Amino acid sequence: MQGDERAQALLLEGGEIRAIGLSQDLCARYPASKQIRVERITPGLHDAHAHPLYWGEQLGLLDLAGLSDPREVAGKVAEAAKNMPVGTWLRGSGFLFETYPSKELLDQAAPHQPVFLQSRDLHSAWVNTRGLEAARITASSTDPEGGKILRDSSGEPTGYLLERATSLVGEVLPQPGIQVLEKGLKDFARRGYTAVHHMGWCSAAWAIELAERGSLPVRLWWALDKEDWQAFEPGWHHGLLHLAAVKFFADGALGSRTAWMHRPYPDGSFGMPLDDLEEIRQRGEIALKKGFTLAVHAIGTRAVAGVLEVFKTLAPFAKAPLRLEHAQHVRDQELRLMNSLPLALSMQPSHLLEDARLVRRHLLGREREAFRFRDLWNTAKPMAFGSDAPVAAPSVADTLAAATGHAFNPEQSLTKEECLYAFTRGASLAAGWSRHGVVAVSAPADLTLWEGDTPIGRVFAGELELF
Ligand SMILES: [Zn+2]
Repeated sequence: MQGDERAQALLLEGGEIRAIGLSQDLCARYPASKQIRVERITPGLHDAHAHPLYWGEQLGLLDLAGLSDPREVAGKVAEAAKNMPVGTWLRGSGFLFETYPSKELLDQAAPHQPVFLQSRDLHSAWVNTRGLEAARITASSTDPEGGKILRDSSGEPTGYLLERATSLVGEVLPQPGIQVLEKGLKDFARRGYTAVHHMGWCSAAWAIELAERGSLPVRLWWALDKEDWQAFEPGWHHGLLHLAAVKFFADGALGSRTAWMHRPYPDGSFGMPLDDLEEIRQRGEIALKKGFTLAVHAIGTRAVAGVLEVFKTLAPFAKAPLRLEHAQHVRDQELRLMNSLPLALSMQPSHLLEDARLVRRHLLGREREAFRFRDLWNTAKPMAFGSDAPVAAPSVADTLAAATGHAFNPEQSLTKEECLYAFTRGASLAAGWSRHGVVAVSAPADLTLWEGDTPIGRVFAGELELF
């Protein structure tokens, strides 16, 4: 792919690519080397936006992916509750509802366990009465900043929570440990990834510990949470973990109608801002001056526009690309603004597989502003593909399918080669890793091995693994 298209063979040594050439030449020059033959080699895949701790956790949760009917979800919960001890948390995720259900259905399904179910986009949650009790959410609770406890006419919580109100429950759940992070990362490795861009909600101390133990199965580009980044210094740990950025959230997500838009949803709402833009600017400047870059979540058009304005002010301080995470809904005028900024565009094409329906429902007439792969590619800013796992499974096949066959704007589709670029070189540039993401002499030996469109193995830091 990138690099010499005619190359037939690579010689790897000491964690790097040492030589590239014709098979017979390399065999003659290095007769003692161990040889393996594969159909196709690309630079190692990156998942450029993921939450590996929560992916690790998700691997053990009730899977509600694809469900949009609360009764169906309640049915699955009832089934799972049968086998669970009284009082233990029953957790699931993956549903997306068109209306917000209330706690009664879940109370019937699981009367003896507290239940906490997160929507597919993780921006809202459905909880039963026991769950609300465990989190001490009552009629007299106030909404947390950036969140909403939905209530009935008498002020009682209905059992549905938006945005940061979900953390009220999150705080009382048993917390996942370092082994869950490791489990999540191993799953990426098994799928052929050699790098993951971590996007928050996990202690960097665990990642540092794994790096020190030599047990990181992928290279990590790490964005710290805005609450605790000041305890860390930017830079590399053991060549495997790069503490690189601070993460901010400018808005929510489309599925929960919290993506912040210029024009209203059919119900008249505009979504909601999360981190205040001025706060992102002020804290962002401090982080940039300390040597971090920024990764800012922006899904709705208004969030994207606001973040680009912030980036414009912060551009003089940027030493690595400023990352716009998601860029899911973009107006024409913001596309033009992107050209002049030190920007990287991090996108999750596989979300389109489920979001196509939501775009038609919530943003009728504005479909052309959604998932503009081609238009964003044409800005010539580094484009990086990811899954946002656990929001979607880190499936290479799903991403390729969604980006090469756009669900409602075929002219926005990319070619397979362009997608692979966004998975490899584009993602490396977005990370500020200029030596990575290429098949070239003295590049790191992080490679993905393919048969057809399926990864069948990888080389990570020079070590070969066949699946
Ligand atoms: Zn995310």
